[in-house]
Amino acid sequence: MSDEPTDKVAARPCPICGKPAVARYRPFCSSRCADVDLHRWLSGSYSIPGSTEEDEDGEDVSLVPRSPREP
Ligand SMILES: [Zn+2]
Repeated sequence: MSDEPTDKVAARPCPICGKPAVARYRPFCSSRCADVDLHRWLSGSYSIPGSTEEDEDGEDVSLVPRSPREP
């Protein structure tokens, strides 16, 4: 697999600052911008609305203890 164009990697600009992205930190230009985006993501849209605890169906079936056989 040696089909990677190393010369023209920066096709998209960094979504944080707009500088040409670096292949190492794609799609960002540096680790700092990647970290900024990560913090935005964690503080922004990471919160899950509601609880998914009651979203498990069929859980009771596996939780039902089998009656032990008496010898
Ligand atoms: Zn950047």
